[in-house]
Amino acid sequence: MTATIAGPLKSTEPTGQMLIAGEPVQGSGKPINAFDPATGATLEPAYRYGDSSHVEAACAAAAAAFPIYRATDSEQRAQFLETVAANIEAAKDAIIARATAETGLPTARITGEVGRTTGQLRLFASVLREGSWNSARIDPAQPDRQPAPRPDIRQRAIPLGPVAVFGASNFPLAFSVAGGDTASALAAGCPVVVKGHDAHPGTSELVGRAITDAVAQAGLPKGTFSLLFGDGPDLGIALVTDARIKAVGFTGSRSGGTALVKAAAARPEPIPVYAEMSSINPVFLLDGALSTRGADLGKAFVGSLTMGSGQFCTNPGLVVAADGPGLDDFVTAARDALAGSPATPMLTPNIAGSYADGVTALSKEADLVGRGEAGDSECACRAALFATDAAGFLNSEQLQAEVFGSSSLIVRCKDAAEMRAVAENIEGQLTATVHADESDHPEAAKLLPVLELKAGRILFDGWPTGVEVGHAMVHGGPYPATSDSRSTSVGSRAIERFLRPVAYQDVPTSLLPSPIADGNPDHLWRRIDGQLTAD
Ligand code: NAP
Repeated sequence: MTATIAGPLKSTEPTGQMLIAGEPVQGSGKPINAFDPATGATLEPAYRYGDSSHVEAACAAAAAAFPIYRATDSEQRAQFLETVAANIEAAKDAIIARATAETGLPTARITGEVGRTTGQLRLFASVLREGSWNSARIDPAQPDRQPAPRPDIRQRAIPLGPVAVFGASNFPLAFSVAGGDTASALAAGCPVVVKGHDAHPGTSELVGRAITDAVAQAGLPKGTFSLLFGDGPDLGIALVTDARIKAVGFTGSRSGGTALVKAAAARPEPIPVYAEMSSINPVFLLDGALSTRGADLGKAFVGSLTMGSGQFCTNPGLVVAADGPGLDDFVTAARDALAGSPATPMLTPNIAGSYADGVTALSKEADLVGRGEAGDSECACRAALFATDAAGFLNSEQLQAEVFGSSSLIVRCKDAAEMRAVAENIEGQLTATVHADESDHPEAAKLLPVLELKAGRILFDGWPTGVEVGHAMVHGGPYPATSDSRSTSVGSRAIERFLRPVAYQDVPTSLLPSPIADGNPDHLWRRIDGQLTAD
């Protein structure tokens, strides 16, 4: 295996094929074409769904690659991830053009997503070099301990095995083929089989080729990476239930994520599914903030609500505030800002259809506050804002359900205590936002412990859309935000999802893996007898 990797490769034209263990493969099933939601144009080339033989080939190759890939050292995997990033950058113009056409998202947004994707890959390269992902711990033997001697016990983390990744529709790069799930699984030492999303097959193929090329450049086994297309309930479930797959990463709907969790739990050998699914991201507007800047908050809220046609898992779908003049100012400003927001394209006709159904359902149970401009295309998202009271909200499952798109609901409460009651009764969330002036801090201090139990990220005086990628970020939260609240799908801790600890008791020194070997050959920070040390 080579440690030094040649310059970046450039893959610029989609060919309509899947990628199985380094080889382009034509599917045999239903043909699918990408579609430009902004123009309604069908995009060539056509892709064909894969079948069980393709799942078999990708999983067999991933399983064969695993022992070799997991034996690579941190530096080799770091260089591999950096090569993937460099290859994506080399093909950037083609990827941006294709992703913009396939999603209808603005070029600036897609350009930013390329940077975020390559940044994530490089973040995991730095995580590998830094080394604490190994979780190296040593409890040295105490042969003279009474009443019984203590054995030598050492712990480190090892990769789970091949991982299935389901690309998201709404982030064609950063949560898709080379997104956070793939980057963190590859960093952990797990081969990856991606089920690409039908909404952006061309982008998926171009990015898949950037990874495939990097696998070859790094001299890694070909089965380290594969990309399949296919029907979720058919090919997707076949992938999740293949005995060689050991974990799953998913971003998408609650129904899709729940189906994968059930399928994985029903396997003879159940496996973890890290599904990021459904969140309405409540925003709590406290009295002081509303009275000093209610109108400004209303305007800024609409900016966050309508960004990217509201197709963010962190979209602010719920606003909770106490009645009063400040809230009236907020509502008036939001209604005015909404009235001037143009309809923007959603990713697919299906997503636009679900959005329209969700808005219709809300309109039956809540009062309409305002709408954005109407659009004339099949995929147009016309923003919508509704209002109800606390009892109406708490008694309705429909009002608590996510509507994916630029729709939000204001819950008008009697007072701060009723706002807290709403917080106590909502489902798990990716985010919870608080707007508070200094005069609100005593109330915020009461709200904070409630929100901690509900959300993966609590933010003050900002908007939940926009997720920093770093070491401290949590993009997770209690069900149904995710299927496992102990994890994050964004940021460096995402690698932990694809690792498990192993303890080595009295293993002969010459057989010990280097992260826990005597003399600390990998120069790691290790916990020796409970104390962190670089010795
Ligand atoms: P999705 O339907 O959950 O699909 C995501 C991925 O999971 C796709 O590859 C899909 O394959 C697969 N999948 C879906 N249901 C499955 C099942 N029962 N068994 C196995 N695999 C399954 O998410 P989406 O395509 O992004 O959005 C579709 C709908 O979900 C929209 O109506 C949207 O309103 C809602 N939604 C999306 C998000 C999000 O963050 N993307 C969040 C909330 C709600 P197939 O395409 O072949 O089914």
